[in-house]
Amino acid sequence: MIASKRLLIVGPPGAGKGTQSAVISEVLGIPAIATGDIFRWNIANDTELGQQVKSILDAGDFVPDELTCEVVADRLLQEDARDGFLLDGFPRTVGQVEFLDGFLADHGLALDGVIQLEADIDEVVKRLRQRAIEQGRSDDTEEAIHHRQIVFAEQTEPILAIFRERGILLPVNGLGSVEDVTSRIMTALENLSDDEVTEQL
Ligand code: AMP
Repeated sequence: MIASKRLLIVGPPGAGKGTQSAVISEVLGIPAIATGDIFRWNIANDTELGQQVKSILDAGDFVPDELTCEVVADRLLQEDARDGFLLDGFPRTVGQVEFLDGFLADHGLALDGVIQLEADIDEVVKRLRQRAIEQGRSDDTEEAIHHRQIVFAEQTEPILAIFRERGILLPVNGLGSVEDVTSRIMTALENLSDDEVTEQL
């Protein structure tokens, strides 16, 4: 039984976060919330937010924390996220971790687990080049692909240490078939739930 329902999935661009979060959210019955998807939806629909962030996404830079956190807070307050959620692509900076901690604490909540999808750089770049051909995402240009890897290493990798220290980081090998990776994630989540049960006894 997996009791953990407030989860994050973190990994370099191209690691397969979107694919895995769709499966996990279905299995656990929690919404997968991807900040990248929310931004892309706003760009496609030419909203005020979309106009604000379009050039930032195209360049592969980060949307400012203040704006990103506001989007996440709005989304987490919706009814379907009350009993759990899987955040994909958020938090990505130390400031965003602090915001999320504060937001959850204000609601008497805390994170249960952080799935760290590991994949080496050559593999993720290969996948992103393939996605560029298949989906034509405007931030999958060669330049933006490389820039996003650098931004991930500089700004997002440091947040992993925070979750490791809390004992909720779950490193999972992201290479292999979708099914294999999903089953590794489910095992990691089951182990986390077992630990929680043990702690409560
Ligand atoms: P993704 O689909 O997760 O790869 O995100 C696509 C783009 O959306 C990123 O390259 C950023 O420009 C922006 N973005 C998504 N999530 C965040 C975040 N948590 N903080 C800042 N920018 C973000």
